[in-house]
This record gives sequence, C-alpha cells and structure tokens, in this order.
Amino acid sequence: MFDINHPTTRQAPVLQIVQKQLVFLIHANSCMKKDETNELNVMCGFPRVHEECRLDHCGTFKNLLEHLRNCTGPSCTRQYCASSVQLIKHWKECRDQACVICAPIRRAQT
Ligand SMILES: [Zn+2]
Ligand SMILES: [Zn+2]
Ligand SMILES: [Zn+2]
Repeated sequence: MFDINHPTTRQAPVLQIVQKQLVFLIHANSCMKKDETNELNVMCGFPRVHEECRLDHCGTFKNLLEHLRNCTGPSCTRQYCASSVQLIKHWKECRDQACVICAPIRRAQT
C-alpha cells in the first residue's frame, strides 16, 4: 500500500499517479476561481476575463472539488474522494522541501 505520509521513490509508478492527481486538483481549484470571475463578469455584462479551460479531466476534478465541500467523510466511496482529501491535506501541510510527492510540483509552479 502507498502511504502518502511516508512516500518513497521505490514506488515510482504510484508516485506518478498521485502527483498527476495532485496537479489536477491544484489546477481545478484555481480554474474554478477563474470560472467564478467569468460568470460574475458575464452577469454584469462584461466580457470574460479568462479563456475557457479545455484541459482534459478538468471538469472531473472540478466536480470532485464541489463534492469535497459537501462530502460526509470516510465512508464515501466516490472515486478519488478519499485520496484527494489526503492529497490536499498533504499539499497544505507538507513542509519537506525534498518531498518526493510535492516538492517537484512546487518547483514547477514557481
Ligand atoms: Zn481547467
Ligand atoms: Zn466523498
Ligand atoms: Zn510533500
């Protein structure tokens, strides 16, 4: 089993999947904010500020983020739900600059 709190590079294939999921979650989070700005602008009669997102899976992960706001917890069986909760928690709390999960993503973001 992959333990998100004690990841090792020996589990590289799992690690890649986990990182992909994290990247999607981070993207969907900022993408949702852009959507909200767009909607607000359109509502007020202004043009959209941001290009419409055409990224694969973006919709899936936006739905998931919506779901997470209302999710009732550990008994939830929705795909990606439990693992995403763990991932987001990890992303917020991890301070390890050499972390095999999030350090490469943080480097790519700045
Ligand atoms: Zn997007
Ligand atoms: Zn859930
Ligand atoms: Zn980390």
